[in-house]
Order: sequence, then C-alpha cells, then structure tokens
Amino acid sequence: MNHNLVDLLIHDASVWTPGGLLVDGAVAVRRGIIDRVGLMRDAHHWPEPSRRLDARGMLLLPGLVNTHTHAAMSVFRGLADDLSLEEWLRKHIFPAEARFVNVETVYWGTLLSCVEMLRTGITTVCDGYFFEDAAAEAAERSGIRAVMGQGIIDFPSPDCSDPSRAPAIVRQFLDRWKDHPRVKPSIFCHASYTCSPETLKKSHALARERNALFQIHLAEGPGEVDQIRRQYGLTPGRHLHGTGVLEPGTLAVHCIHLDEEELDLLASSGAGVSHCPESNMKLASGVAPVPELLRRGVPVGLGTDGPASNNDQDLFGEMRSAALLHKVHRMDPTVMSAPQVLDMAAMGGARALGLGDEIGAIEPGRRADLVLVDMDRPHLTPLYHVPSQMVYAASGADVHTVMVDGEILLENRRFVHLDVDEIMENVRKIKKSVKKSSSSVIGVL
Ligand SMILES: [Zn+2]
Repeated sequence: MNHNLVDLLIHDASVWTPGGLLVDGAVAVRRGIIDRVGLMRDAHHWPEPSRRLDARGMLLLPGLVNTHTHAAMSVFRGLADDLSLEEWLRKHIFPAEARFVNVETVYWGTLLSCVEMLRTGITTVCDGYFFEDAAAEAAERSGIRAVMGQGIIDFPSPDCSDPSRAPAIVRQFLDRWKDHPRVKPSIFCHASYTCSPETLKKSHALARERNALFQIHLAEGPGEVDQIRRQYGLTPGRHLHGTGVLEPGTLAVHCIHLDEEELDLLASSGAGVSHCPESNMKLASGVAPVPELLRRGVPVGLGTDGPASNNDQDLFGEMRSAALLHKVHRMDPTVMSAPQVLDMAAMGGARALGLGDEIGAIEPGRRADLVLVDMDRPHLTPLYHVPSQMVYAASGADVHTVMVDGEILLENRRFVHLDVDEIMENVRKIKKSVKKSSSSVIGVL
C-alpha cells in the first residue's frame, strides 16, 4: 500500500480560504481530512491521488452549516402560513404534530430535508425534533454531518405521552448515537415557556455529562416575553440565565427580544447563537440584535428553522436575507457586510455548534466538508469579490458538487447514493394521509 497516496485531488479550482481567494488552486484530501491546500503549480509535486476532480470554472467553499431546523417538518411545508407564531403553533402545528408525527413521517421528512440541504451546499445540520432516533437514521443515510437533538417539553408530545418518561428516552438516544463519526446526539429543550426550570436544569446536566450540545429557543416572540414575565417575573434572557443553562455547549436559537444587559449575560456565558432571519421575518417575530452579538464576540451561525416556518432550507437565501434585513432595519447599508455573513454561514455556525476546530474553513487538518459552486453562470459573471457574489447573487441552485468527510454525496447536481424520487414519493404519500384525515382538525386544508 502506498501511504503517500491521497484519496482525492480537487484541481484547477478557485479556493475560498481563511486567507482569501486562491486562484488556480488545488486541495488534496486524505482519509476524509483536508491534507494540503495550495496552487496548481505546486500541486504537481504532491502525492498521486487515487481520484481527481476537475473544478475548472468552479469555486470551492467550505460546506455551509445550518445551525437550526426541525427537518422532519418538511411534511408540513406550506400547511399553514401567514399567521402569528402563537396561532400557527397552537392552532395548526401542535395539532398536526399530535396526529401525524410518528417514526415513519419523521424518517422520510428528515431525509427529504437532508436532500434539500445537501443539494444547496449545507454539509452540517443541527436539528431538534421528536422521534429523533428516526431523524438521526435519516441523517445517517443521507451522509450529511448532523447534530441531532431529541426534543423535550413538559406536556405530552408525539413520541412521549407521559413527560416523566422523557429523560429515559433521551438517555437511550444519547447512548445509541454517542460513538457515531458523523451524527452527534444532542438535547433540545423546546423553550422556557414549554419546559420548567427543573426540566431545563436536569436536561442541561445530562447534556453536560455526555458532552452533548444543549439547544433551546430563546426570546423568539413578544408572546414569550409576556408569558415568562407573568410566570417568573423576569425577561426570557434573565430567566434562562438564572437557570444556569447558558454556558459553552449551549445553543440559544433566535435571541430576538433581549436588552443590553441580557446581551452581556449571553456574551459572558460562552453560549452560541443561531440566527434565523427568514423565519423571524415570516412569523414577524422581530429582528435579532445580531450586530450587537457579533460585536460582543458571541459565536453566531445562520439557521433556516423548520420548513413549516420558512419554508425552504437554503442557506444562500438566509445569507442574503440576513445581510438585507439588518441593513434596512437600521437604515444603515454598512452593517452585516457580505464577508461577515459568509463567515457566519460556515465558521460562525461551526463555532456556535462547538465544531469550530473541525469544520467551517478550507485549511489542512479540518474535515473535508466541501462544496463546489458552478461560477460559469450569467448571474455570477464577472467575479470581483467572492463574498459579494455568494451573499447577493448566488443561490443554492448553483451548487454543483458536495462532499462530507471527503465522500462525494452530490456530483454534478446528482446524488451518488440517494434515490431522490423514492424519497419525494414517500413524502407525497404522507401529505395525502395528512390531507385526507385532517380537515376536521386543521381548518386551513
Ligand atoms: Zn425552531
């Protein structure tokens, strides 16, 4: 066996590295890890690869990181829109979930979402839902890198009719996935208004003990602020800080309604933040103080949120929305620059999930989670500035080839292993059963 052999050489690419753009660049991958990054003229002296990938006319980006979704909810995409968060959740989503969420729907819904995400350049996803074991199986089959959070709430849920059994379900889930190379188990407490302080503390202690990411929605809408004030006499940020769960290893999602002091508490806690601009706009939840979080050094990543509240899972769209939303909100075109936003979509997300040493940039020693974007397109011509082009002009449809751990999952816009038609057919079948038996439950159908 030739130990000098590399598995893959991506050649003649424009490579987006932490130091800037490498024109006529090459990247060698060995055993799933980025081995070398350099110029083509030097690559001629590198070890012989077992496979070459011609990347002429293409831009090599680090794989994008989607820090927040409920992937299985693709089965409810478009079911109920244009409603307030409270009405959408309580009148439509919770009843639909109670009736139709099961092992089967979670598996196919999650697999469909993984397909959607991979083909738009997302190589890592952080998910939170019910029946997360089935969701993790779907993520594993797709080949995506995943942090999968088993959901916890204090009332009966689709996978746990007796909330006192939830800790046992979570433990079993953590045990099953603890040694998987790509699928990491996590705990997802829905929010402070659906989980008591005791539930939060116990779940967080378990996450810490197992070195698993602890996820929670925080300060998403004005309704949450009112409810937490009524229940605990505090704002959501102060309340959550008081429970002790804000720490490194915690991901706080949304973080919209926080005052200056709460932003300081969050920044000093070491927790990461997921920013989901399109979901926040669609549900009119508010505008998260992201420039203030970034200024305080908080690791902030981008998230799509679930496909029932977005309704797509394309991080290129989130990048553009994030850049535009904060500019118009402040009437200041200089906030949230394209380089800052592109960085949030890869390295920011990696850091927010605690994976900042492994993924998020193209440099030797990191995992080969890589995306080739086809730049030979009218709307991407000419190229002056990579971040501007990616944030303001590109879309997920421009993604050509995607790999995770150096394994090519999508090549020339086709999946190598997955039967996408079969996956879509299964989700269409689920939609039929939702539609047939739900008209009495869900008024909008
Ligand atoms: Zn969410």
